[in-house]
Amino acid sequence: MTFQELNLIEPIQKALKTEGYTTPTPIQAQAIPIVLTGRDLLGCAQTGTGKTAAFAIPILQLLYNRPQAERGRKAIKSLILTPTRELAIQIGESFAAYGRHTHLTHTVVFGGVGQKPQTDALARGVDILIATPGRLLDLMGQGFINLKQLEIFVLDEADRMLDMGFVHDVKRVLKEIPSRRQSLFFSATMPDVIVKLADTILTNPSKVEV
Ligand code: AMP
Repeated sequence: MTFQELNLIEPIQKALKTEGYTTPTPIQAQAIPIVLTGRDLLGCAQTGTGKTAAFAIPILQLLYNRPQAERGRKAIKSLILTPTRELAIQIGESFAAYGRHTHLTHTVVFGGVGQKPQTDALARGVDILIATPGRLLDLMGQGFINLKQLEIFVLDEADRMLDMGFVHDVKRVLKEIPSRRQSLFFSATMPDVIVKLADTILTNPSKVEV
């Protein structure tokens, strides 16, 4: 399997070349075609497997391919919820790298730092928002974030999210996003409690395990 066989758009292929990626990892080879069809995904994969690119690449491609008329004014079309600031920063760097030849914009919000640079970036308008749950809810409560146009939702590291006590925060976010959406759910482990949470988020998902 090569990246060519995944039918990726030229700007992404070019970016992957710059990154020096030649072959998709197993999670990428399995997940990218599924996400590109618009289906929900339940992915069992740990950090280090290439899972970030497995969702970032198809999200960039789906949003890139939206008709010009729908692009219009920037609105958050994809939200990636992740448990830690380190992961949020890494995911932001991945979107920057794979999306460098697209018009798509992103920003990262997390707690423990001043919110002004984050709200300034949000005010400029972004297509993709990467966030940790506490700061996201905080900024939503203050009216800095509108998720009404959200199309693709990602819950990253769901098991860690639960371990860190974020389950109520995640549920509060779910109440604020459109029910008609594509959802991607990733977890390194799949205990019952995670399967149940996935059931509340996903609709008829494809399952991928690496
Ligand atoms: P992740 O599991 O998303 O944290 O990715 C782990 C590391 O693998 C990151 O440093 C990526 O830059 C790298 N990586 C992801 N996909 C590929 C690929 N197809 N080829 C080479 N390196 C990759």
